[in-house]
Amino acid sequence: MNKKKAIVIGAGVNGLVLSNYLQKSNYDVKIIEKSKSIGGACSSDSISINNKDISFAKGATVLGMMPDFIFKDTGLSKKLKIYSPEFQKVVYFENEGSEVNIYKDPYKLQKELYNKVGERGSVIEFRDDENKVVQFIKDGYKTGEPPSIDSAIKVLGKDLVDMWITGTARDLLNHYFTSDKTKLYMGMTVIESSPESIDSKGSAFIIPLMDSGSVFDGYWGYVKNGIWQVTEELGNINKSIGVEINISSEIDEIDSENKKVFLESGKSFDYDVLVFATDPLTPTKYFKNKKLKKTLEEKKYTGTSGKVTAFFKNKVKWINHSDDDDSLSSFKFIFSVDNLNDFEIKSQNAYNKLNYYEPGYIQVYCEGAGQRKLGNKEPFDKLIFFTKNISYDKKGYEIPEIHEKIKDTVFKYILNPEDCVKSVFLTPKDMNQEFHFPEGNIDHMMLTDGQNFNQRTFSEINNSFYNFGDLLDVFYCGAGSYPCGSVAGTAGYMCFKNITRHK
Ligand SMILES: Cc1cc2nc3c(=O)[nH]c(=O)nc-3n(C[C@H](O)[C@H](O)[C@H](O)COP(=O)(O)OP(=O)(O)OC[C@H]3O[C@@H](n4cnc5c(N)ncnc54)[C@H](O)[C@@H]3O)c2cc1C
Repeated sequence: MNKKKAIVIGAGVNGLVLSNYLQKSNYDVKIIEKSKSIGGACSSDSISINNKDISFAKGATVLGMMPDFIFKDTGLSKKLKIYSPEFQKVVYFENEGSEVNIYKDPYKLQKELYNKVGERGSVIEFRDDENKVVQFIKDGYKTGEPPSIDSAIKVLGKDLVDMWITGTARDLLNHYFTSDKTKLYMGMTVIESSPESIDSKGSAFIIPLMDSGSVFDGYWGYVKNGIWQVTEELGNINKSIGVEINISSEIDEIDSENKKVFLESGKSFDYDVLVFATDPLTPTKYFKNKKLKKTLEEKKYTGTSGKVTAFFKNKVKWINHSDDDDSLSSFKFIFSVDNLNDFEIKSQNAYNKLNYYEPGYIQVYCEGAGQRKLGNKEPFDKLIFFTKNISYDKKGYEIPEIHEKIKDTVFKYILNPEDCVKSVFLTPKDMNQEFHFPEGNIDHMMLTDGQNFNQRTFSEINNSFYNFGDLLDVFYCGAGSYPCGSVAGTAGYMCFKNITRHK
């Protein structure tokens, strides 16, 4: 049987996962990547400190959203060593000086929250219902069925759908919890990638969405050497099965009638199927669908996440913490707000650019300790501070005082801050320039009303979720499509199912 020709634009995790499945399914795949290396936002950088070189994650840092079946099917599970800490996460409330342990066991967590923050609601009920929704989401990933409210109602019932899928995050949190601090912890992922209002319709859905990975069963962890191994290894695997990867390749023109892509280098490729695994605005440059271009330009793209990578000459030690690497590698969270109202105000202030930095929370990934657990010896310990809320105004080097403020917030909790020898700061503006993310959103596009769940699509073709506009042979599966961004490849896989279902 003659193979069909697929061209995939963009060699980020989604383009690489899609290519892997297509190549194994009677397609001859060529990838066109404009950067000089693959990986997109899942790639590495390196730095020399006191003549010692160390690599670090330029964009994404921790693994968690990837479905287990993608990890296995692509061959990644045989190539990568991964690890998720067993030790409980720790939450610090900056203003009160309090510390709460987030145990995996819901009964133990219920007790901890009861004692530490006066929680009188039900963690157990919350987790039970969340698990039902998460299972529904995961089942949809595997079958590749596009998200639909009708099928959600059939499986979950109208009450759960109203609360967890189409409802607001504030209503969801108020339904299960009484303590603002519990609500803050359970609801923090709503604004993880973008300044989504907790009062907007559908914002509740982001909470189970962020727990729907299965490589660590809903938890997050580390990849030996660094998360960029995911895309590097996928690139190697893809080459070994015959995928052609063209880096440093700029598209000059696309002739959609004759199904040809012309590169600036003079090369051209024919296609049966063309897929954009880029940000959603990129494909609009090549097609004349004015209506779609306008629709896309009107969507919301803003991101408000910052990232500091800090390097330490000695092992980081946390105050009141044991010294073993499982405990040291567990995730830590520092909240600078105490209640949902302030959480919302700070997030919206950053969105509206009222200040460069509106302290909300910092997620601390203890990458160095994770690497030690994985047997990777590095010359420096590393901590990553994933920080909310940074407005889309300035590059990191333009606001050194904010870079310092973020570090100082975390340094209060460690015993040896003087060992920090270097740090690097990325703002949404940097992410726009480094990774071509429109307005710096790590999901490419906000997970907001009209852009979430069944509405996270650009298709104008009925029952074909991943098409781009009304173009029958053109698809879109970057982080701006369902489910969202992340080092997961889920959109790439679901797009593969869409393409092969209709061909
Ligand atoms: C600072 C930061 C921290 C993050 N932290 C995490 C984390 O810890 N865990 C996690 O899971 N996720 C994290 N993310 C999100 C995650 O990295 C992204 O959502 C994910 O990598 C997006 O993958 P993608 O394949 O959809 O797109 P991308 O990685 O953006 O890839 C798109 C590719 O398309 C290429 N391209 C664009 N235009 C063209 C063109 N015209 N021609 C050819 N090629 C083109 C780009 O060069 C790029 O290689 C983070 C992101 C950032 C920036």
